[in-house]
Amino acid sequence: MHRTTLGDFDLTVFSDGIYHFDGGAFFGVVPKVMWQKKVKVDQDNRVPAGLNSVLVQTGKEIVLIETGIGNKLPERMKTFYGQPAELLDNLSAGGVSPDEIDIVINTHLHFDHCGWNTVRSGDRIVPTFPRAKYYVQEGEWRHARRQFERDRISYISENYDPLIESGQMALLKGDGEIVPGISVRVFPGHTAHMQSVLLASGGRKACYISDLIPTTAHIELTWGMGFDLYPVDTIESRKKYYAESIPEKWLTIFTHDPQLPWAYVKRDTRGKMVTQALTSSAA
Ligand SMILES: [Zn+2]
Repeated sequence: MHRTTLGDFDLTVFSDGIYHFDGGAFFGVVPKVMWQKKVKVDQDNRVPAGLNSVLVQTGKEIVLIETGIGNKLPERMKTFYGQPAELLDNLSAGGVSPDEIDIVINTHLHFDHCGWNTVRSGDRIVPTFPRAKYYVQEGEWRHARRQFERDRISYISENYDPLIESGQMALLKGDGEIVPGISVRVFPGHTAHMQSVLLASGGRKACYISDLIPTTAHIELTWGMGFDLYPVDTIESRKKYYAESIPEKWLTIFTHDPQLPWAYVKRDTRGKMVTQALTSSAA
């Protein structure tokens, strides 16, 4: 289990399992001769991707960032991606019960980021985390509702609409603080309103950067995913992120890295982006 402290905060990674993406889609315009040096493909040209949620215990609140794929994926999508559905078991193994979660933050509403927001109970959809207040950007939800041909497959309304109707999910308008030390910051590119989650405690910072930089194999500015709706914005957002995260030594948390959920990202002497693993237990 990956666990560390950040000032007064305890951070633990809980995975919803490993699923599979087409390698070409995962690395966009980057040629396979380059990306295959970093990741191995299976017989169908698919690469393994992690589903890393992070539990933040502030001492006052228990906050869950992202909720994986969940267990409600339509059959057709299961054949593409699989449905590992491990998050609740992993939380339980770590001694965390769903009714202990105070806050859930979704960086965006793609099916692989908010799947465990809700579960089916008979013919009803109910919140998985009954006491939690959920947060997402309003612009992301409005985009999801428009059901554009390009990306409507990525949005499954039962992951969020029942929570919005019941008032349990708050729609944010841009950057802001959720609780002291936990704030969200919008980084356009993957979608127009994808938000990252910035954690700050005891003079240290970490950022759950979500699909702006999905894995450690995507840290170069131009290595965006094929799924990105606004690839030029992805590059500009990464520049903005690195301009703060590198000098201030933020710990970057990667949603989809199957091996390394967090690391420091920096430039080596030749200007190439490299990761430095977290070695001690304290960030
Ligand atoms: Zn996404």
